[in-house]
Amino acid sequence: MTYSANTKRYLNLNYRRCGNSGLLLPPITLGLWHHFSGKQKMSDKAKNMLFQAFDRGVTHFDLANNYGPPPGSAEENFGKVLHTDFKKYRDELIISTKAGYHMWDGPYGNWSSKKYLISSLDQSLKRMRLDYVDIFYSHRYDPLTPLEETADALTQIINQGKALYVGISSYSSKQTIKMNKLLKERGIRCLIHQPSYSLINRWIEKDLIKTLKDLKIGCIAFSPLAQGMLTNKYLITIQKKTRISENNELAIKLKKMRTKSYLMKIKGLDKIAKKRGQSLAQMALSWVLRHPSMTSALIGARNVKQLDECLDSQNNLIFTKKELKEIDKYAKEEKINLWANSSKD
Ligand code: NDP
Repeated sequence: MTYSANTKRYLNLNYRRCGNSGLLLPPITLGLWHHFSGKQKMSDKAKNMLFQAFDRGVTHFDLANNYGPPPGSAEENFGKVLHTDFKKYRDELIISTKAGYHMWDGPYGNWSSKKYLISSLDQSLKRMRLDYVDIFYSHRYDPLTPLEETADALTQIINQGKALYVGISSYSSKQTIKMNKLLKERGIRCLIHQPSYSLINRWIEKDLIKTLKDLKIGCIAFSPLAQGMLTNKYLITIQKKTRISENNELAIKLKKMRTKSYLMKIKGLDKIAKKRGQSLAQMALSWVLRHPSMTSALIGARNVKQLDECLDSQNNLIFTKKELKEIDKYAKEEKINLWANSSKD
């Protein structure tokens, strides 16, 4: 049976303005980096997450060319859902994709040259069978490609109608100021920045968040749960069927991050969350969204139960000064920012 969306879907979330643009985004966005891949089609479990998200007012889905495995399969699978169950809702959806990491062999399948960004978006559109995406991102800062060239590519993408808006991801404050200027000179708005940000990865507080506010650029924080490390499933042991328990390179990296100092922090944070009547995951999301200029928290989820728990964070968004002070005792930097190299000046 074809999916039919919940008619009350827009009563649940308070949409936030993206910078000073005309675009409103949901406070929680669902990303398709993990759990939406597969060679043939999307699993029913993954599809149900998309449906549940949309039923609860999540209008924004975030992808990238390389999400898989195999790379590209998340876009391909999402494209199938878009052309069946979501077909009549295209104008109610904000679909984003990106290019900047390795996608194909040779000198033109990585980083941020015009050649790569333009060809990659063409491939993404084909995979999703779309005429345009709503937001296209330069996925990371490329120290070897002139920023002017990347800005030219983003401008061409807008002018050709292949994306409605453009954004950048994991750029430092300085790089953001420069890119914003270059885009402005070309008559284009830098709509949004997508940095990593969480209770234990606070690099954007140094200057980026203020820069974005000053430049009136929106901000969507990815990995606000630190890839699941800001949930209680690693508190006692490493639970099965989790990102850390998987058998891959990322799991090895994450396992090394489960240090004594990390455990001390999440134990403290978990206690504060309980006092607020929230789970640790929920408090982590409410905390990211405490900045009035934060447009959205970009989460991942393994199943509908996790997704629902994350969306329920919206029932408790207010922090007292005392709570924030208490949280600051534990919300200190852990070395978990795998994307830090991109934002080095
Ligand atoms: P999160 O920090 O939200 O981590 C998601 C993981 O947290 C889930 O897969 C799950 O882990 C766990 N989780 C989620 N909700 C719960 C819950 N209620 N209870 C317990 N565990 C929970 O985000 P991601 O790291 O997945 O990134 C989110 C999105 O951000 C991506 O899909 C992508 O769109 C974007 N992104 C962008 C990047 C960029 O460079 N621009 C880089 C990385 C991500 P488990 O699977 O272990 O159950």
